[in-house]
Amino acid sequence: MVFISVIIPCYNECGNLIALKAALDKVLTPYKKEYLFIDDGSTDGTLDEIKILAESDMNVKYISLSRNFGHQNALKAGIDHAKGDCLITMDADFQHQPEIILEMLQKWQDGYEIVYTIKNSSKNISCFKRFSALVYNKLFSLLSDSPNANLGADFRLIDRKIADILKNDFNEFHLFYRGLISWIGFNSYALNYTPERRLTGRSKYSYKRMGNFAVDGITSFSIKPLRIATLVGFIISSFAFFYGLYALYISFFTDKAITGWASVILSILFIGGIQLLFLGVIGEYLGKMFFEVKKRPHYLIKQKKIDAH
Ligand code: UDP
Ligand code: MG
Repeated sequence: MVFISVIIPCYNECGNLIALKAALDKVLTPYKKEYLFIDDGSTDGTLDEIKILAESDMNVKYISLSRNFGHQNALKAGIDHAKGDCLITMDADFQHQPEIILEMLQKWQDGYEIVYTIKNSSKNISCFKRFSALVYNKLFSLLSDSPNANLGADFRLIDRKIADILKNDFNEFHLFYRGLISWIGFNSYALNYTPERRLTGRSKYSYKRMGNFAVDGITSFSIKPLRIATLVGFIISSFAFFYGLYALYISFFTDKAITGWASVILSILFIGGIQLLFLGVIGEYLGKMFFEVKKRPHYLIKQKKIDAH
């Protein structure tokens, strides 16, 4: 009989977990399964709620991290410790409907090693989130080296084989699973789903966090922004060369040499701005290397209840 792991990262999700577990039980009744809750440094009683679930059901396992390490690292903790023949990752807030798991399992049994999901546009998600996701997906495919990248959501099924690959071969510090899943290939199938409204609580992705996540996503997958710096540098120097010829002409062959304060100040500001911008881009990559070189762990475990092997 197949064994299914459901990995649920939770950061302050008190109030959602009991209902979610009941809904999952309903859908997964015929299957052998484990629910692996990852408490990502919650401060609101999430861990207590998980422990209550674990007391009444042997299938409930948990890992509690020593502090908030972020969604992607919580997912990694789950992927590293799940024992299933296939692993399903989903949000704790009911935005990912448990019923879709049955469709995922069907596709997995048909031979797909990855079943990922693409969010339908839905009123249940704020306008800003919908718009930014659209722009970001376009930008990602343009800037990353996988033009057909479909970033989907962190609601997906992966086969044991893929889980082992992710666990053993991908230890980069800034994880971006949506991009990785699209990068590694294998047989994958996309399911469309319409996200529900969050049951309780608020989104843990503030605008600032979304921005950081977006920059991490692109800079983990591509060095094109650095190439753009070179290209812009080249274009501006070509202009500068011709403008220099023009300036020489003006000073040697005419008597209008002093005029043009506005153009000087504008070009200084423009070039200065571009230089700062691309120094920032270079700094972003340098910062990434700084974290890679340190090889710090992705997460630290404070408490856990999982099977021994
Ligand atoms: N999450 C987490 N650590 C974090 C932020 C979020 O484990 O630092 C979990 C969160 O509890 C939820 C999932 O990741 O189960 C997705 O987060 P959220 O629902 O806030 O994101 P949104 O759906 O609004 O994009
Ligand atoms: Mg959510």
